Amino acid sequence: MNDTILIADQWQPGANGHVLPVINPAYGTILSTIAQADEQDIDAAVQAAKTAFPAWSTISGRERATILRRASEIFRDRYLTETARLLTQENGKPLNDSIKECTYAADVIAFYAEESRRITGTHFAGDLGATHSFVLKEPVGVVAAIVPWNFPVDLLAWKLGPGLAAGCTFVIKPSEEAPLATLKFVQAFLDAGLPTGVLNVVTGDGKTGAALVQHPDVQKIAFTGSVGVGAWIAEQAGRAMKRTTLELGGSAPFIVWRDADLDAAVAQSARRAFSHTGQICISVNRILVHESLFDAFVEKFAALTSRLRVTPDGLREPNADMGPMMNAQSVNKVDHHVQDAVQHGASVLMGGDRLHGAEYADNGYFYAPTVLVNLNQDMLVMREETFGPVAPIVKFNTLAEAIAIANSTPYGLAAYLYANDVNVIYQATRGLKFGGIGVNVNDITDIRGPFGGTKMSGIGRELGEVGLDSYLETKHIRLAYRTATL
Ligand code: NAD
Repeated sequence: MNDTILIADQWQPGANGHVLPVINPAYGTILSTIAQADEQDIDAAVQAAKTAFPAWSTISGRERATILRRASEIFRDRYLTETARLLTQENGKPLNDSIKECTYAADVIAFYAEESRRITGTHFAGDLGATHSFVLKEPVGVVAAIVPWNFPVDLLAWKLGPGLAAGCTFVIKPSEEAPLATLKFVQAFLDAGLPTGVLNVVTGDGKTGAALVQHPDVQKIAFTGSVGVGAWIAEQAGRAMKRTTLELGGSAPFIVWRDADLDAAVAQSARRAFSHTGQICISVNRILVHESLFDAFVEKFAALTSRLRVTPDGLREPNADMGPMMNAQSVNKVDHHVQDAVQHGASVLMGGDRLHGAEYADNGYFYAPTVLVNLNQDMLVMREETFGPVAPIVKFNTLAEAIAIANSTPYGLAAYLYANDVNVIYQATRGLKFGGIGVNVNDITDIRGPFGGTKMSGIGRELGEVGLDSYLETKHIRLAYRTATL
């Protein structure tokens, strides 16, 4: 399958004929191939998006809404099942988690379809003289949307929904590791009658992404991925004053205060630590438990972890808790973090190694759900994004101590607090330096609320009203009028 580049409604191979393999992480086998787009392909895609922009940006919000709503419906009815299966095959998550991701993506498009009718400006009588001011919201232009492999469909929807609603046109760069589901998702927009050139796709690896970022006709870069790549994009964008939304890595603390509902805290921290094999930007990376609950928490958490099912094949066991990791580097990084913790004095309560055995394919990328105790701040697991199935559990005494540990990371994406005392909740939520905080809930995502990070976790927010605003420029028109009788 090498016709993976989309330019002005035509699926085509790359100009240079180079292809990249897409690997099934459960087996380590080649699932398919994609074209490696080069500068010639990228330029053609950007030109198509630029050509489509004047018409798409000026039709009514009502017309854009109709097409987006139709795309969401077509995706659900025609492509969702197939897309979810592809997603499981290319990034390993159990099928039900893939279905959940695709369903949410459809929902995001439907949500922003409505929003495209609600983009308005404002106006006011001028402060000086006989003037009146009009403040308009106009789409920023051609957007480069670059997504990672862990939620490739959903995170693309978070960009396409608001961006298309605003009137922007797109060149999408899917992840080279999980591009196939993304391509199906895009097809739903074409089927829905999106005008030619509004959506274009260039497949390829980081080189393709870098060339797209640097293209002079790209006005905004909407990127989700690692901090290293995000920082590089910020530098490039800064030089050309391009708009950016950067959604990067995280290291989420999960604080369990002494009055928390223990069973809920155990179940929900475990789910958020191990779901998608810990490869989520808002995964729980550090569980901080008040000393009065610590022993009970650890006992229950270890018991629950021992019951988790790591499926060798997420299509066969759609309800499993975990699948494989994405690739060999991810497995090696997790193992390095675990070994580093052990060398610095941590104890491994559960897991701590690759998963071997007859059940798992020799070339699959499996790591056991791992629970660590006896931790300190010198350990990589306590400071960096492990991005794997590792749950370090730390004891604390005072709230101030918990907040200090929670904040001692360069990241600031998600944090969680399980507590009931309103004063504790108030102090903690004000003290935690994170873009989203879940209080007695293990997910910070709500379609209507802002999602994004502080510190090294990124710049800008997706979803909600602010997500839409990030695809709009604000223009001020100041009009002087005559007061004479006409
Ligand atoms: P990555 O940064 O390696 O790749 C992300 C995308 O960027 C891919 O499509 C890749 O091809 C492309 N890319 C690579 N180099 C590039 C360059 N120089 N210029 C332009 N594009 C380039 O990330 P990944 O490994 O695919 O994803 C995992 C990371 O994503 C984790 O750090 C995770 O926390 C983060 N993430 C963040 C969020 C969030 O909302 N904050 C959500 C999901 C994942």
